[in-house]
Amino acid sequence: MSDCLFCKIIAGEIPSTRVYEDETVFAFRDINPQAPTHVLVVPKAHIADCNGVSAENSAVVAHIFEVIPKIAAAEGLINGYRVVSNCGSDAGQTVQHLHFHILGGKVLNLEMA
Ligand code: AMP
Ligand code: ZN
Repeated sequence: MSDCLFCKIIAGEIPSTRVYEDETVFAFRDINPQAPTHVLVVPKAHIADCNGVSAENSAVVAHIFEVIPKIAAAEGLINGYRVVSNCGSDAGQTVQHLHFHILGGKVLNLEMA
């Protein structure tokens, strides 16, 4: 997707602080961190949001959930962390490329909404 912010970050056209990369997944620090550790994990292939996950592309989502504990461990999140994916405007999704927030490094607010 030529007009997608996260596709441009994955392509290196917009700078980011990379924390993990493999063939199908890219992870980088959120530019506006909401916790001491705030990492975004994204598929390299453009998927708009959770509604775009299908039988054809769900393997990358499974892989993201294999990668998340590795990133959390590398970030030293031994006491736990939160994984969040906002889908659509009511959830406050601002970038239309599927992403999973990893939040940690402090005791997180328990409010979900
Ligand atoms: P969401 O609101 O769930 O769509 O999350 C989008 C996230 O992308 C927000 O937490 C933003 O702070 C983050 N973000 C926006 N632009 C950038 C950027 N250039 N580099 C890193 N993170 C970004
Ligand atoms: Zn994209």
